[in-house]
Amino acid sequence: MNPKMNIYLDKLKHNTEVLVEQCKKAGIDVAAVTKVFCGIPEVTEAIVAGGVKYIADSRTENLAKVKHLPLEKILLRLPMISRAKETVEFADISLNSELETIVALNIAAEELGKIHKVILMVDLGDLREGIFDAQELSSVIEEIKGLKNIKVCGIGTNLTCYGGIIPNDENLGKLVETAKSFEMALGYPLEIISGGNSSSIYLLEKDGVPKGINHLRLGESIVLGYETAYGERIPNTYDDAFLLVAEVIEIKEKPSIPIGNIGRDAFGNVPEFVDKGMQRRAILAVGKQDIGTHTVIPVDSEIEILGGSSDHLILDVTNCHREYKVGDEITFNLTYGSLLALSTSGYIYKNFVE
Ligand SMILES: *Cc1c(COP(=O)(O)O)cnc(C)c1O
Repeated sequence: MNPKMNIYLDKLKHNTEVLVEQCKKAGIDVAAVTKVFCGIPEVTEAIVAGGVKYIADSRTENLAKVKHLPLEKILLRLPMISRAKETVEFADISLNSELETIVALNIAAEELGKIHKVILMVDLGDLREGIFDAQELSSVIEEIKGLKNIKVCGIGTNLTCYGGIIPNDENLGKLVETAKSFEMALGYPLEIISGGNSSSIYLLEKDGVPKGINHLRLGESIVLGYETAYGERIPNTYDDAFLLVAEVIEIKEKPSIPIGNIGRDAFGNVPEFVDKGMQRRAILAVGKQDIGTHTVIPVDSEIEILGGSSDHLILDVTNCHREYKVGDEITFNLTYGSLLALSTSGYIYKNFVE
């Protein structure tokens, strides 16, 4: 059924195996980050088969979908204090930076008869989440020691998300140093020293991950085969494990410039056009409601995307060798943004291919 997203489970398993193997050589465990595909269980299962140690997601709803899988689950986004109970119910581990929230998690864990593990996040300069102040860090540790149903199992940082800061010896080295002082304060070794996301992969490739880092949280690199510090392809991985397939609902010769006075389009913008004479144009039954304003890349490189509206994508197929007709399927490669949007859309049929 169209429009659909073809999901190649074997390719995802393969990508995971490649990354898990590479990480293993550096003494690093992998947490598979499942948020970009909304935690779809079939996809998570394929990735789990590739050998990851943890499942990680930013949303408890997604972790709930894979409750049946026996791996430890990590909540990536700092928990909402109002949803402490759900956090403890669906996540074994959560990333935290606020003592108030950790206290609430302790109460919830006590009610549910669990020990909830926390990874304390430190901000090394990217300026998204994490404790920034060294003084705050040591006082939080001291306070947590008194919480019976909370165990600090690790320390982590997030980079290249808001500030675009690239992981290196210096910032990750500082994480390892901080971990050592944590261990002194706690009196036991930390299980997890989490050195970031897919932007840390480039360090692996040149053996540059500081000693002591033993955990990475990998999303984009598994699903799209890209490291994200420099946007390079990761050797021996697939970048086409997810494809969008949409159907042609109109194909006609039309001018390249609309006729009449130009006002605003459906989204309030004043469009501009270049006169390219008459064009052969295809309309697909997929639109901004599904893709947002993110990029999709036609597999047929002779296709040019002209634009779209909520429910339509308009293509220039003038230069295509293939003679497109109504009912034909057109296939697109995806980017992180379009994969996220298409996964979230309830109108995109998810088609699993073995
Ligand atoms: C999304 C996210 C990740 C995964 O990032 P990728 O670039 O997709 O590997 C890791 N950690 C946290 C805290 C995240 O929010």
